[in-house]
Amino acid sequence: MKTKTMTDQLIYPDKDSLLRLMLNDGEVRVMMVRTTRMTQEAADIHQASDTATAAIGRVLPVCAMMGGLMKEEEGRLTVTIAGDGAGGRVTCGVQANHLKISVGNPQVELPRHQDDRFDVAGFIGRQGQIVVVKDFKGGEPFSSISHLVSGELGEDFAHYFTVSEQVPSLVALGCLNQDGVVLSSGGILIQAMPGCSDKTIAELELRIPFYANISREIYDRSLRQLATSWFLDFKPKILGEEEISLQCDCSREKMRRALAALGRADLQDMLDTGEPAQLTCHFCREKRSFTPDDIRTILKENQP
Ligand SMILES: [Zn+2]
Repeated sequence: MKTKTMTDQLIYPDKDSLLRLMLNDGEVRVMMVRTTRMTQEAADIHQASDTATAAIGRVLPVCAMMGGLMKEEEGRLTVTIAGDGAGGRVTCGVQANHLKISVGNPQVELPRHQDDRFDVAGFIGRQGQIVVVKDFKGGEPFSSISHLVSGELGEDFAHYFTVSEQVPSLVALGCLNQDGVVLSSGGILIQAMPGCSDKTIAELELRIPFYANISREIYDRSLRQLATSWFLDFKPKILGEEEISLQCDCSREKMRRALAALGRADLQDMLDTGEPAQLTCHFCREKRSFTPDDIRTILKENQP
C-alpha cells in the first residue's frame, strides 16, 4: 500500500485544471482536463473501492468539461448517470469550476477484467440513462437524456454529445489508480464545429490511440505540453486554462430547507424520537445535527 505522503510526491505538481483550445482557426473545439486531485479527494470522502474510484475518475473529467461548455457564469449543471450497474446512481454537480459527486454504492468492489482493467461498465451498468440538467439563473431548467452505450463512460458521453447536443464529438476519459491511490485522472473532448472539413475529422480520428491513453499521457506532462504535441499540425490556439476543484455547496440552511420540505408528519415522527436528527450530505458526507428544538422551530415556521 502506498501512503498518502508518497501520493503527494507521485502526483504531477500542476493543480487540477481545464484547458480550452481551438484548432484550424475554429474548425474544432478542444477541451482537456486534469482531475487527479479531485478524484483522490472524492475517493477519500466516499471511501471508494478501486473500481468506484476508476468510475469517479472518468465522471469528474467529463462533467468538468461539460461545465466548461456552459458559458453563463451563473449556470449550474447536474449530470446523473442512472445505470443498472453495481455502483448505483452517480450524480455530479458543477457550478463555476466547482464540482461535487455522489455515488450510490461507492464501496462496492468488482473483480477485474482479465487484462487487469477495472470493471467500470459493471459498476456503472451497460443499460440506463444519462440525464443532464442545465439550470440558468432566472430561466427554466433545460434537461436532456441519452442512453448508455457501453457503461465505460467515454463512449456513453460521446454518444450524448453527438445525439443529444448534435455536435459530433470524440471523448476520452481515464483514471490510473490502485489501492486507494489516484495517480492521474483526466479527459479530452474534441468537437467538430459547423463547417469542419471531413479531412480534419479523419486526421483527428487517426490520433484516437493517443487520446485513449489520456490518463497515462497526463501522468507526467502538463495539459499545455500535451495539447501542443498532439495538435502540432492543426494550428492549436490556446484560449485559456482555468483551475477546477472539488467543492460542495451544501450548508446548514439548505439542509434546514430540505427538512422543512419533508412535511409535518415526518417532522413530528422525528420529534417523537426525542433524539437529534442527523443529516448527511450525499456529496461531501458532512453531517449536520438538528435538535428537537430546531425541529420544533421548523414545524412552527411551516404551520399550514
Ligand atoms: Zn455537502
